[in-house]
Amino acid sequence: MLAMDYRGPYRVRAKHKPDPVIEHPNDAIVRVTRSCICGSDLHLYHGLVPDTRIGSTFGHEFTGVVEDVGSSVQNLKVGDHVLVPFNIFCGSCYFCQKELYSNCHNVNPEATAVGAIYGYSHTAGGYDGGQAELVRIPMADVGPTVIPKDLHVEDAVLLTDAFPTGYQAAEMGDIEEGDTVVVFGAGPVGIFAAKSAWLMGAGRVIVVDHVEYRLEFIKNYAQCEVVNFKEVADMAIHIKKMTDGLGADVCIDCVGCEAAGNAAQTLTGRYLKLQAGAATVLHWAINSVRKGGTVSIVGVYGPTFNAIPIGNAINKGLTMRMNQASVKRHLPRLIEHIQAGRIIPRQIITHRIPLEEVADAYHLFSSKLDNCIKTVLIPPGAYSNSVVAKEEA
Ligand SMILES: [Zn+2]
Ligand SMILES: [Zn+2]
Repeated sequence: MLAMDYRGPYRVRAKHKPDPVIEHPNDAIVRVTRSCICGSDLHLYHGLVPDTRIGSTFGHEFTGVVEDVGSSVQNLKVGDHVLVPFNIFCGSCYFCQKELYSNCHNVNPEATAVGAIYGYSHTAGGYDGGQAELVRIPMADVGPTVIPKDLHVEDAVLLTDAFPTGYQAAEMGDIEEGDTVVVFGAGPVGIFAAKSAWLMGAGRVIVVDHVEYRLEFIKNYAQCEVVNFKEVADMAIHIKKMTDGLGADVCIDCVGCEAAGNAAQTLTGRYLKLQAGAATVLHWAINSVRKGGTVSIVGVYGPTFNAIPIGNAINKGLTMRMNQASVKRHLPRLIEHIQAGRIIPRQIITHRIPLEEVADAYHLFSSKLDNCIKTVLIPPGAYSNSVVAKEEA
């Protein structure tokens, strides 16, 4: 099969690799129909995630048609078109029973914090990802969800991570009617966090970024106010000025470890690696939220440590909530929102690129060329697949 192949920082290519096979009775093999490149894939691409091995295949946001199932699989059958949450999880451990699927205890012997993620280094379990023609799906009875007939495949693929992650970011903010919500980061997750904040009753949504075309896009897509941090001397003071001197009710970090905007953080976090990425947005969030407010974090940081103003958080009485999204928990609600027409996720897709051109796709997305918001890779043959062909018609 053709698959994305990691060769080292800033170097990826499309390569023919052996087809995956059923290794466990509860595995399935899926033939990919759509596979996104995620902002968090760029942390891998930039060489910032520990134990990202040469020869691995990235990709944790994909849909596909079930091609084969192991002998114990009961909930899937050959031919089902499924969306596959980025979390790999067992469904039955202590954490899965609490619907903390992103913290599953049975799928990642490499770590006790994060569970497992497709195509996201050996730190996240060492599973190959979906930027390929075929993927092996472990725990196939619990992860994949059959795509409802009336759901567009490109809406479905955004339900594997970006939309649920943005939604959970807003949910963890415990937004109350009329709240002012500040979202840091105008990428796909920030876009869906802003949209979700409205769905949860926010009275005002402000998005902060520095990429002008993205601010322009989110302003229209999510009907929010925008702030270009390059035009702001001090973020906390600026947000306070916008909020009668109080600060925002909720601040959401949709950026994570590769934040721009503070030279010292960039140097210590991204270049010298003295902390697990630049904590710029954590500083902004803690300092811009009002006393007693909530900071919600879904941006990705490394496993070691970050220098953050924890004293300010304590003295202000903040609630801080964070996690990787537990995608499966959100799917029924989010599918309902799409079916009701309250949101059309696929409208954020700006680029559809053949899997063969994966190197160009990463370069384009990483360098934010051509006003790129979300890039979807299409494996050879996916267009001729009857399921997709029908949906495209
Ligand atoms: Zn992702
Ligand atoms: Zn589990």
